[in-house]
Amino acid sequence: MGVKKIAALIVGIGCVWPRPSLVEAHLSPPTPRTQLLWLHYDGTQFRLIRSQLDSDATSSYTPSPSSSGTFRLALESEDGRVLFVSHFDDPRLIHVDRVTEEGDIHGEALLLPETIVPLRVPYVEEATRLRISGGNIPTGVLPLEAPIEALDATGALPPYTTQTIIRTGPSCNRLDIVFLGDGYRATEMEKFDRDVRAFADHLLKTPPYAAYRYAINIHKVNVISRDSGIDRPSLGLYRDTALDMTFDFEGVPNAVYAPVESEYKIYRAAALVPDADLIIVLVNERDLGGSSGPLKNISVVTTHALGPELLVHELGHSLAFLADEDDGPLAPPLREPMKVNVTLERTREGLRRVGKWDYWIEDAQSPSESRTRVGLFEGGLGASYGVFRPAPTCKMRTLGQPFCPVCAEQHVRRFYFYIRPIDAVSPPPIAPLSVHETTADTLVFRVIPLEPSPGRLHIAWFVDGLPLEHHESSLSLPTATLSPGQHTVTVVVTDRTPFVRWDPSGLLSSRVSWTLTR
Ligand SMILES: [Zn+2]
Ligand SMILES: [Zn+2]
Repeated sequence: MGVKKIAALIVGIGCVWPRPSLVEAHLSPPTPRTQLLWLHYDGTQFRLIRSQLDSDATSSYTPSPSSSGTFRLALESEDGRVLFVSHFDDPRLIHVDRVTEEGDIHGEALLLPETIVPLRVPYVEEATRLRISGGNIPTGVLPLEAPIEALDATGALPPYTTQTIIRTGPSCNRLDIVFLGDGYRATEMEKFDRDVRAFADHLLKTPPYAAYRYAINIHKVNVISRDSGIDRPSLGLYRDTALDMTFDFEGVPNAVYAPVESEYKIYRAAALVPDADLIIVLVNERDLGGSSGPLKNISVVTTHALGPELLVHELGHSLAFLADEDDGPLAPPLREPMKVNVTLERTREGLRRVGKWDYWIEDAQSPSESRTRVGLFEGGLGASYGVFRPAPTCKMRTLGQPFCPVCAEQHVRRFYFYIRPIDAVSPPPIAPLSVHETTADTLVFRVIPLEPSPGRLHIAWFVDGLPLEHHESSLSLPTATLSPGQHTVTVVVTDRTPFVRWDPSGLLSSRVSWTLTR
């Protein structure tokens, strides 16, 4: 009976715990509280619009903060101690993709005149100010106001209805994608619904998303516009739409985006789904257009027939931080790019030095004879010479092609910024279990893995640090085997997906420990 009592409660990992501070000690990697800093940037200075405690500590917080980028961000205490440092690139930078009839991508970088961006940093109670330097602008020191718990980060919420299209599990351990519509009138909400389902369906059929579809929730916000379609300045067409999306943004042909006031509207509408990790703006237009901001979690795409495929590519920028692998007339960058799928290096040794895909290159006579076909192929970042990509083809180069192994791997690593391989455990590991309190002969421990790709998760059990020859999801431990004193039972669940060969931060593994006293 005692066992039943203990095992009755299944507790979701990363979800709301009864006593969070105790539980976090049992989780690896630890999940510190995070906050969102909403910054406005116009090319000359940063302003802090709002700081907001994050309700979903497991979402896009980066465990190892970026060590390079145009700007340096530091959280400082009142007496000037540096409590946290991270780097980030110019948030005004967005990718604009043009697509040829053959599906070839031609990416272009567009610098927005001004922008807002939510940056996620750890919540440090002592921090009283934010210092931002770099990028040839004067160093800005911004006082940090007390974080505001409310999800309403950017003003009053509009009265749109929301709907969850696909729910696979609790948002605290899922990648939550929200679709917003622009250029859909009230009478077109059924079309919006059909469009969202078609785009989501294509996304979830595409590797590596397909292998992780049970780790993804899909939501939509029924954003209603007065007019159908969006502005087409080059054709002299102007429409009144809820999110003010326009073609030819900033005079760039086909660029579909919107001014900073719209970014406020986008974040406000997306805040109606507070668990959203990624925002997709679906634009009700037949011509093809797509763009994405890697720092913003926003991707924009039109409802052209190639739109669903272009969306997967855009998420390659905004979710997986990938570069375009396109040829073109641009000069190679002067320094090694940060993106994992392009390099200036010309040898395998060079790749190893910069921490890129040498471990995907197989020892065949030529890349065409290897299974992965990964090697060094010239052309990428819009430069036909001097920049190298991992494979002949990839969705970051041509629509309709699968992602190359390096880009697919990066996607899966990014999924694991939002999810963990353990969905839930029982009993709750929040307080030491006393063997005396149970009359049962056996203690039962259970783990419910987040099963994105069935059979690929590896379960390992340890008692007092010693591995057991047991790999099932539940462990029965006879109490008689425990000597008097304190013991620990640990379960480690690891995703052994073939998509990932290198996981330096251990993202694909998670662990829970129970403490027992007898
Ligand atoms: Zn692109
Ligand atoms: Zn690729």
